[in-house]
Amino acid sequence: MTKQLNPITNTVRASVGEDKSHGSVMPPLFLSSNFTFERFDKKRKYDYTRSGNPTRDQLGDAIADLEGGFGATITASGMASITLALHTLEPNALVIVPHDCYGGTHRLLEALKLKGTIRVEYINQTDKKAVLEAFKLKPQAILIETPSNPLLRITDVEFVATEAKKVGALVFADNTFLSPALQNPISLGADLVLHSTTKYLNGHSDVVGGAIVAATQELHEKVAWWANCLGSTGAPFDAYLTLRGMRTLHTRIKQQELNTHDIVKTLATHELVSKVYYPGLEDHEGHDIAARQQKGYGAMVSFELKGDLEATKLFLQKLELFTLAESLGGVESLIAHPATMTHAAMTPEARVVAGIGESLLRVSVGLEASEDLCADIKEALDYISRPIQLVKSA
Ligand code: PLP
Repeated sequence: MTKQLNPITNTVRASVGEDKSHGSVMPPLFLSSNFTFERFDKKRKYDYTRSGNPTRDQLGDAIADLEGGFGATITASGMASITLALHTLEPNALVIVPHDCYGGTHRLLEALKLKGTIRVEYINQTDKKAVLEAFKLKPQAILIETPSNPLLRITDVEFVATEAKKVGALVFADNTFLSPALQNPISLGADLVLHSTTKYLNGHSDVVGGAIVAATQELHEKVAWWANCLGSTGAPFDAYLTLRGMRTLHTRIKQQELNTHDIVKTLATHELVSKVYYPGLEDHEGHDIAARQQKGYGAMVSFELKGDLEATKLFLQKLELFTLAESLGGVESLIAHPATMTHAAMTPEARVVAGIGESLLRVSVGLEASEDLCADIKEALDYISRPIQLVKSA
């Protein structure tokens, strides 16, 4: 495509009408594990699916285009992308990581630290002084997760990237929580953008996958080399489904964000909710940075309930439209209890440092009618407020 088009158009039309064999409008799915050689000693563009596959490349091109990167490597999961990013580093590299990163990332880093493969320093990346102090340790890379999971803290990507460049550190940005529709870390200085495509990019909770977008050709080739070497590339069928889901990314996330605004209002005005974490709220400490570096505030919201673990359990039982499950970014609304679910792999001490308490809940807002979602939350909150009133009046 030679014309400069809006990313929405490019995403909807990715690889449409390009099939040379039968003129299929939608791109065909190439499941084959191997490809014929044209003749002796002359291979085609693809020879073996672990190393390269046309369906996977179509997805990679579409994601790289959306993120404004040189190229993207499609992996079997979001964790595989993080593993690959770490493989671009020298042995014993120091990596700076947010203290409240995704629990699975925390587990991976801790395991690699124990093996002596890397060194890890956890910091609060919203604290600029802490970031500057950490760069004095001469890290090889800094991993950013913004908005963070589950407290939706915002890291100033441009600030971190500028400081990282001064000490020669690479910037890895996990962009899973917003998707490229709402944030493009490469334009803010990131070197690698990581995705769990399991989430918003696929958007239908039926694929586990990942992507790693590189800002430069050199980094892209390094990542692609490791992906083939380690065997962490994704399956073509998953790539096909993800590209199919991605065509509606912008429309989905726009509506999901509108639904989230209604839910935030419902939560923020209920007496049983002590705190709402949403970057779109003006009193959220990262609001100004989010307004500057994001194209929207997203469809994830976390909140604290007043009350103990029993009240939290009752609230979860009473909800009908928020499915109790891990993951996020699908068309269906989900609710998670980070302390016992997504962040259970962290030690209790690490959870305390990250600010993840027992009454914290995280919602991934879906595409249901917002009036139904808000009514469901209100009914569940009203329900748990009843026994508390009974106790008070006894
Ligand atoms: N990064 C973030 C921010 C996540 O939330 C997750 C999963 O929840 C991952 C990475 C890992 O992705 P996957 O489950 O696809 O391996």
